[in-house]
Amino acid sequence: MGRVVVTGGAGFLGSHLCRALLDRGDEVVCLDNLITGSIANIEDLFGRPGFTYVEHDVSTYVWVPGPVDRVLHFASPASPIDFERIPIQILKVGSLGTHNTLGLAKAKGARYFLASTSEVYGDPLVSPQPESYWGNVNPIGPRGVYDEAKRFAEAMTMAYHRHHGLDVRIVRIFNTYGPSMRPDDGRVVSNFIVQALRGEPLTIYGDGSQTRSFCFVEDEVRGFLALLDSDVTTPTNIGNPDEYTINDFAQMVLEVTGSSSEIEYRPLPVDDPMQRRPDITKAREHLGWEPAVHVREGIARTAAWFADRLAQDA
Ligand code: UDP
Repeated sequence: MGRVVVTGGAGFLGSHLCRALLDRGDEVVCLDNLITGSIANIEDLFGRPGFTYVEHDVSTYVWVPGPVDRVLHFASPASPIDFERIPIQILKVGSLGTHNTLGLAKAKGARYFLASTSEVYGDPLVSPQPESYWGNVNPIGPRGVYDEAKRFAEAMTMAYHRHHGLDVRIVRIFNTYGPSMRPDDGRVVSNFIVQALRGEPLTIYGDGSQTRSFCFVEDEVRGFLALLDSDVTTPTNIGNPDEYTINDFAQMVLEVTGSSSEIEYRPLPVDDPMQRRPDITKAREHLGWEPAVHVREGIARTAAWFADRLAQDA
């Protein structure tokens, strides 16, 4: 197969992606600065033929010796709690990191794959969100550091495509969950599952009427590979269109885990999108991709992983 560079390869999505690439016979060079990624996520990969790990911050100059067929740029903190904690790093990896990795792909004649996000749609005024929607983003709010970095990254990627003829793919990733999420990641799936397992109250922000659509990581990564191998050079949504209010999602986590945790309401974060649901017509038609894992099954599998993880930590 090919030699693939994965930035952010020790992160939640990046580590699942590295594993899937190795499984299909690719060589993988995993780059990560471990700001939010973790060696524990890739520990099982070190012994595998074709896997190399380099600790590196791709916001600074990036060079990988030898041939490279694909550059997959997945490095970025992505949780809303990171937006307050490390905003400059997020802006740098989305802008400078994208520029550096595009430069690597250009120098190597490699295909470039950008991990973008549903956050480019901001607090969307249309639902579901098709790729043609330009979005509703507050550039100066706390989420702007992530949203605008990714919007810039898309603009930069398309400029390399048009100006340099670089072969590019752009995925817009919607809320994804599964094993290897950080227990303290701060996002709704990890928070609710960990809270349910510990018998602590589930923290619903706002009145819980806002919606999200959750994709199990196995489906998501299958979508990445389908897009990577396709000839679609324009942004493509990959996500699960099953949409739930946060209230309904909390109930589902309680049911699936059999937890008797209570619900506690907390203030809604600034600029928290009121709705999010991918229109996946393009992925269905051009990639033949759609998610297969129902959210109840995904919660059960994720909760089993978290239960193990919490037991180990204890
Ligand atoms: N949320 C919540 N309780 C939590 C964490 C998040 O109610 O403990 C809400 C959050 O306000 C948002 C939704 O769940 O409306 C999804 O949040 P998350 O941080 O997972 O990702 P986002 O989609 O906002 O990037």
